[in-house]
Amino acid sequence: MELQQEREQLVATARTMNASGINQGTSGNLSLRIPGGLLITPSSLPYEQMGLEDPVAIDVDGRSLEGGSRRRPSSEWRLHADLLRQRPEAGAVVHCHSVHATALACHGLAIPSFHYMVVVAGGASVRCAPYATFGTQELSDLALEALQDRRACLMAHHGQVALGVDLQQALALAIEVETLARMYLQARVLGEPPLLSEAQITAVERQFAGLHYGQADPDT
Ligand code: 13P
Ligand code: ZN
Repeated sequence: MELQQEREQLVATARTMNASGINQGTSGNLSLRIPGGLLITPSSLPYEQMGLEDPVAIDVDGRSLEGGSRRRPSSEWRLHADLLRQRPEAGAVVHCHSVHATALACHGLAIPSFHYMVVVAGGASVRCAPYATFGTQELSDLALEALQDRRACLMAHHGQVALGVDLQQALALAIEVETLARMYLQARVLGEPPLLSEAQITAVERQFAGLHYGQADPDT
């Protein structure tokens, strides 16, 4: 089978995603950049039932790269393809319906700079893209806009999407966004929390950069 390693990574990460509690059922989808396009999870197939032959290889216009795939690509293939096309630094995309991020998104709320870790998503907030029907070009366009200078965003009345250089990093970011959303909702129980200033966020960005924070290999 072609793309054996990529298929293994995609299936394993999909299962890890649901086991982590940030997604359930057939909600959510994942993709990985491959030569000529992307490998993406199939539409509406429970991850426990997903075999290595089920992820679908497509080009950025949604055309099959392998001919005769037995599955349809995720209904969100446009979102994944557009992101991978527009963001050359990204190698993988994770979309999920994590509960706390989605709760905020149902109110159209972004995650502001209430906690310094928002910086891991690329800036002073995790924006919320306006609502559009799932699987549409409109949703992709709105999400891409909310993702400008960011690696993750919320999607109103829907969920969240996160980018990474690889699947592991994209999933880790989606889990981080869900944790931040949960913290923010909890903090709001006592009223709107004070936010970090632009200068404080800049200092956090410098600190992350100076410490090479989050890199696996300390020698790099
Ligand atoms: P798929 O099963 O088609 O990937 O759709 C799930 C989803 O989350 C749609 O937004
Ligand atoms: Zn979805």
